[in-house]
Amino acid sequence: MTQTLCAALINRAVAAITEHATELTELDQAIGDGDHGINMARGFGAIAEQGEALAALPLNQALQKAGMALVMKVGGASGPLYGSLLMSMGKALPEAPASLAGVAAAVAEGVAAVQKRGKSAPGEKTMLEVLVPVLQAMQADDGSDLPATLARLRAAADEGLESTRPMQATKGRASYLGERSVGHLDPGARSSALLVHATADVLEERL
Ligand code: ADP
Ligand code: MG
Repeated sequence: MTQTLCAALINRAVAAITEHATELTELDQAIGDGDHGINMARGFGAIAEQGEALAALPLNQALQKAGMALVMKVGGASGPLYGSLLMSMGKALPEAPASLAGVAAAVAEGVAAVQKRGKSAPGEKTMLEVLVPVLQAMQADDGSDLPATLARLRAAADEGLESTRPMQATKGRASYLGERSVGHLDPGARSSALLVHATADVLEERL
């Protein structure tokens, strides 16, 4: 039997974070406290542990539960932020999303929740540098087919990630470095880009 969409998304996201945990930690060693990979691996490990129960739920409920797991299991800033993203997205997502616009509206709720929780906005060298452009790419639905839309989302994530390099951080631990935060990729932007690519991989395979 093929995996449910929910199971495939969980597996791919967990694999992406696990495979890149060392890289995320190294990015955080440069401008933070060197725990982003550990935090994300712990959070997504908790999601993996609940994998079967989550996969049996509709996607909207699974997202909310996965978000709660991140909030409970991750001590760093990223846990509550990603937790808010998933919980708010899950709450806003219809049980059977029928259109890209419906999914985009739910993602918009999730991104708004991150901004509220983080008291942050784009331009501060955080995960929002990826999340906001990806959301905008979803909202700017030009009627293209799914492969073209997914390619736009991937490009938005990659460009957003790269845009963090010249930025000076004004939120989170990296802000303590002031100008010394310039010249490095933001770890949370990298993990967000990984999650966008993981999602796109799964959707592409299931076309
Ligand atoms: P901590 O900073 O507590 O050690 P992590 O290292 O796991 O937590 O996560 C750091 C990442 O969290 C940053 O790279 C950034 O992308 C994101 N982040 C931190 N603070 C904020 C905030 N206020 N708003 C949005 N994202 C934030
Ligand atoms: Mg850290």
